[in-house]
Amino acid sequence: MFRRAAALILVLCISVVAGMVPAQAQGGLRITGTSIEAAFPLELSFNISVESDADITDIRFHYRVERRHFVDVTSEAFLEFTPSRAVDVSWDWDMRRTGGLPPGTSIEYWWTVEDASGDSIETEPLVVQFEDDRFQWQSLVDGPVTVYWYRGDTSFAGEIMETVREALYWLVQDTGISLTEPIRIYIYGSSTDLRGSMIFPQEWTGGVAFTRYGCIAIGISPVNLEWGQRAIAHELTHLVIHQMTLNPYSGLPNWLDEGLAMRSEGPLGREFQAYLDRAIAQDSLFSVRSLASPFSTDADKSYLSYAQSYSLVEFLISIYGKDRMFELLDTLSEGSTYDNALTRVYGFDSDGLEQLWREYLMSPVETVEKISVLPGRG
Ligand SMILES: [Zn+2]
Repeated sequence: MFRRAAALILVLCISVVAGMVPAQAQGGLRITGTSIEAAFPLELSFNISVESDADITDIRFHYRVERRHFVDVTSEAFLEFTPSRAVDVSWDWDMRRTGGLPPGTSIEYWWTVEDASGDSIETEPLVVQFEDDRFQWQSLVDGPVTVYWYRGDTSFAGEIMETVREALYWLVQDTGISLTEPIRIYIYGSSTDLRGSMIFPQEWTGGVAFTRYGCIAIGISPVNLEWGQRAIAHELTHLVIHQMTLNPYSGLPNWLDEGLAMRSEGPLGREFQAYLDRAIAQDSLFSVRSLASPFSTDADKSYLSYAQSYSLVEFLISIYGKDRMFELLDTLSEGSTYDNALTRVYGFDSDGLEQLWREYLMSPVETVEKISVLPGRG
């Protein structure tokens, strides 16, 4: 895991920082300056200037990204340069090659340098936060949750925070799961601004949960707050569920992940309900097994997949209760297969779930309860 002590040494929120490290010496080796240039979301460039009485022969850049992982991952980059007594080199991190980072990600880094006389030096670790400095962010903190925003007034941010509190409250009621680690929520002023923060954005991206980074980014203009509140509840649920279940062996069935997220939004939206009703009437529901995999990007299929996921989760929680749901997630967090986890907790596998759920769908009492009045996310 990331070293907390090191994070306290220095936190930089920067576009350009020059000469932050004082000269350090080991034998004849002297580091005379370092700097960082950031161009969110595309590039981070780390520079170092070194002098010595002998030719400098080896410079390496080491870094760790703060995110949840199963082994301690340190990356090392070898810098190319001509050996000399004075060297000034940079290591450029091109995010287009590696995939992007969410805003505010902390990166711990340090340098090692060697010269021809055998002297070497290792700098103290520092931390840089890769901030989206295209905007003037304000922040609101409540316990482990920090909301960042730049468009709209403080009451807008207050409403966002209230949505977070409510979503967390209902998540505990429905599943027994609560937030275990700090999270950052970035509210972009529009979906266009949000897409500008991503390396390879999809045209339809309105919100993203970076589950391993404890970060959510959503595009919400103040006039679109109602949609935004549903989107926040949705993405927040993904984040909290993944905090609990992350393991190196297996993930979550997609219907469970999306169904819980949809349920946090509130009652099923009317258009989702229409897709579900039509599929029931036409006997064209997807199998539970097929919904374990990522959903189709085709709009019609995607609507039905989300609607079915909501319905499956609603069935499990309303019939079997929140303790079993917690147990299911807990079992999955141990790396259990989907069928083994279902069987252990409920006594049926994916096929058995499908059969019982279809019977539940046909139950007239439940049909009355499923009528919803709220519009969907669109
Ligand atoms: Zn989702």
